[in-house]
Amino acid sequence: PPSVSLKMDVVVIGAGQAGLSAAYHLQQLGLVPYQGYVVLDGAAAPGGAWQFRWPSLTLSTVNRIHDLPGLSFAQTAGEHAAQVQASVAVPQYFEAYERTFHLPVVRPVRVRLVTGHGHRLKIETDRGDLSARGLINATGTWETPFIPALPGADRFRGRQLHTRDYRDAQAFAGQHVMIVGGGISALQLLDEISKVTSTTWVTRRPPEFREGQFTEEAGRAAVALVEERVRHGLPPRSVVSVTGLALTPAVEAMQARGVLTRLPMFSEITEDGVRWADGSEQHADVILWCTGFRSSLDHLAPLGLQGSEGGIQMTGRLATQVARDPRVHLVGYGPSASTIGANRAGRSAAAELMTSLGLP
Ligand code: FAD
Repeated sequence: PPSVSLKMDVVVIGAGQAGLSAAYHLQQLGLVPYQGYVVLDGAAAPGGAWQFRWPSLTLSTVNRIHDLPGLSFAQTAGEHAAQVQASVAVPQYFEAYERTFHLPVVRPVRVRLVTGHGHRLKIETDRGDLSARGLINATGTWETPFIPALPGADRFRGRQLHTRDYRDAQAFAGQHVMIVGGGISALQLLDEISKVTSTTWVTRRPPEFREGQFTEEAGRAAVALVEERVRHGLPPRSVVSVTGLALTPAVEAMQARGVLTRLPMFSEITEDGVRWADGSEQHADVILWCTGFRSSLDHLAPLGLQGSEGGIQMTGRLATQVARDPRVHLVGYGPSASTIGANRAGRSAAAELMTSLGLP
């Protein structure tokens, strides 16, 4: 790539949907690639977290991937779109996107820490330091899997893994698999694994299945709820935790096969399974934690963004701006943690940051 100025106006961290949208808009608004702004990405190749998704996640089993601004996904994904793996099609699309708009993505560069230095921010990476006046953080959640802490976890002699480690169901043939979690990923993996071996499904709350089409109105309401939380400085919740689960044909087939009998959360892990508070036990060879992710924000810790409510208080038009440090925007975070939300957040953050920095 061209040489990168070490003193930037804006640094974007992360080249997923949110970071690419922000980059596109920064460029449209007049920032000069490599001189005025740069995108640092820790992954070796384009695609954000999509390049790491499990192989059976195809374009027909994802919810929906929205176009980035200015280039159609359908056109780059090709003809057999529905069967294509998301981990192949989306990275191809992002690669074409970066190339088409000449976006200054530099990779692999891992940001280790961001610290405040007077009016500027110091961005420390594994390939040297940069300085910027503003920051758009778009680091997603994939690198921060969440597993609840339970007594006995270290005693378990079977295998424990998280959604992000899952590759394919065949690996579990002949083993009893305990699947923990009430989200879309838990359901998809339960569906696949229960076709090849025996399973137990455990969720904290009883799952709420929603009949009929998921309306845009319901989507907006769910996002508004998460936005309300972050505006009050509370930790965000996942949008799915607010919308409930769609009663799809796949889910109905699972009900018919009898694999959707759900048990409440157990209280302890034993050497060869789990135990509930009432003393009942279930043997398991594998515990698969489909318990979600948290935002990957550790590198921002020196900025002290977190408030007394346990989250980062957000402000600005789409709640992308950090109230405690207006130079910092978080995109793909909280209410914008979806491909469509990331698009909008990238645009809004780019415009607000440019204005507040007096640019161009
Ligand atoms: P990511 O795509 O995670 O990109 C973040 C980038 O930041 C990565 O390239 C990473 O390498 C980089 N990075 C992280 N930390 C650092 C660091 N310290 N230094 C440098 N770089 C760093 N949403 C939908 O709208 N539709 C769907 O169908 C859908 N399906 C999903 C399926 C699964 C299994 C999951 C987990 C999520 C799904 N989502 C879906 C949510 C959606 O993926 C995200 O909201 C969106 O794609 C995330 O984009 P992002 O840009 O925020 O993050």
